[in-house]
Amino acid sequence: MNAPRPLRTPAELIEAGLIAPEDLREIERVAERYAVAISPAMAGLIDRGDPNDPIARQFVPDAAELTTTPEERGDPIGDLAHSPVEGIVHRYPDRVLLKAVHVCPVYCRFCFRREMVGPQGLGTLSPEAMDRAFAYIAEHKEIWEVILTGGDPLVLSPRRLTEIMRRLSAIEHVKIVRFHTRVPVVEPERIDAALIAALKASGKTAYVALHANHPRELTADARAACARLVDAGIVMISQSVLLKGINDDPDTLAALMRAFVETRVKPYYLHHPDLAPGTSHFRLSIEEGRALVAGLRGRISGLCQPTYILDIPGGHGKAVIGPDALREHAGCHTVSDFRGGEHSYPPRHEG
Ligand code: SF4
Repeated sequence: MNAPRPLRTPAELIEAGLIAPEDLREIERVAERYAVAISPAMAGLIDRGDPNDPIARQFVPDAAELTTTPEERGDPIGDLAHSPVEGIVHRYPDRVLLKAVHVCPVYCRFCFRREMVGPQGLGTLSPEAMDRAFAYIAEHKEIWEVILTGGDPLVLSPRRLTEIMRRLSAIEHVKIVRFHTRVPVVEPERIDAALIAALKASGKTAYVALHANHPRELTADARAACARLVDAGIVMISQSVLLKGINDDPDTLAALMRAFVETRVKPYYLHHPDLAPGTSHFRLSIEEGRALVAGLRGRISGLCQPTYILDIPGGHGKAVIGPDALREHAGCHTVSDFRGGEHSYPPRHEG
């Protein structure tokens, strides 16, 4: 029997019971513009009886994506403004993104790089472009960390990943290699001994940043895949996007962060959604986001607290946007506790 394959076309989505036949024309228009793929693990997790299923909302195309609002932009976090050579984004002095591949095992409907990923996206770096990217990293001695992102770098074969890691191992000043991925959740069976050996082949300290947005994504298979990575000595951190109708309530966010910690994945970033085209139905206001994140304080362990951040549109980097427990007035600070109580903190006594 053939292994189940990802769902990629509107016709396959109808056959799988994920869209209604009468919506075919509109969904075809969405699929012409933005890539579609739902892995077997994620398709199997969707509750067909729930019209607001949070897994379906992340992966099943929706006619709302055909609406682009004036503030949305094709390159919302400004990768292109900081790309000195193809495949490299050098936004902060001590680290670079290396975007070797623009393919993913699933295509998230809110993706911040949706204009770059997928079959019509930027593809895979050519050998010549890869040479130029490595020459850039080798020449810039301030680069301490290389972050493989894309696309999803874990769709590369262990052989291709090993080649990339061997080249990084020769660059003395790079100490940390980080992989941004959804694979342990959406295709957990890929995390096998060969892939893990490839992730470690640079000999550098390896981090895997896992992207997941709802606690149901942390299935038994996903948790087992993460355990294989952590047991192999790879440090795992999380990345989530705060998404309307998916995780924008305190119970879901708390359960998600606890699921990460139980899986030995340290909560790291909770992203405010970016201004990617056709994604306004996922965005909540910054005020709503800050209230949700403030509600996590006191409710769940300090181990479970993510940092709520905004990628400043235009490529100006990340800014922490909450919660803000401190206010200053006339030289005095007022600090809020997790119940909303306010307390003053005295100014520093000179002399
Ligand atoms: S896995 Fe990441 S890069 Fe790929 S579609 Fe989802 S958000 Fe975009």
